[in-house]
Amino acid sequence: MKCPFCQHPDTQVVDTRLSEEHNSIRRRRRCQSCDKRFSTVEAVEMRMPLIIKRSGEKVMFDPAKLYTSLNRALHKRPIDSETVEDTVAAIESRLYHLGVKEISSQAIGEMILAELAHIDEVAYVRFASVYKSFHDVSEFTQVIASLHKKP
Ligand SMILES: [Zn+2]
Repeated sequence: MKCPFCQHPDTQVVDTRLSEEHNSIRRRRRCQSCDKRFSTVEAVEMRMPLIIKRSGEKVMFDPAKLYTSLNRALHKRPIDSETVEDTVAAIESRLYHLGVKEISSQAIGEMILAELAHIDEVAYVRFASVYKSFHDVSEFTQVIASLHKKP
């Protein structure tokens, strides 16, 4: 998105909001060159699917939340921030290319697990334990076992 003031090509999104009707996204942007701020409104049809939470509430995909989840799972693990960024980008890209308007938060959880399985076993188990909220130890053991079966 070009800056309307100085035409600089790089602007940073500082805030993203979904309209109440869920049909447009308002982004607050900051120009990285002249530091001026401006807003853009985009039709939601062009964008990411809405996420349906377990409660039924529909929310926008928020990469910041994804970063938080991943960083929590990868806490003190030997994984660099670049890998975390690549993972967020990979999930964003998958969501974008699905071409659907809505997706369950559960499906996204599965995508995150699939990514973590390639990155770090401990993080995978941590995320799985939060996300799947295991009912007993055998369920937990099953996840570990399935992890070791992966090529
Ligand atoms: Zn500018």
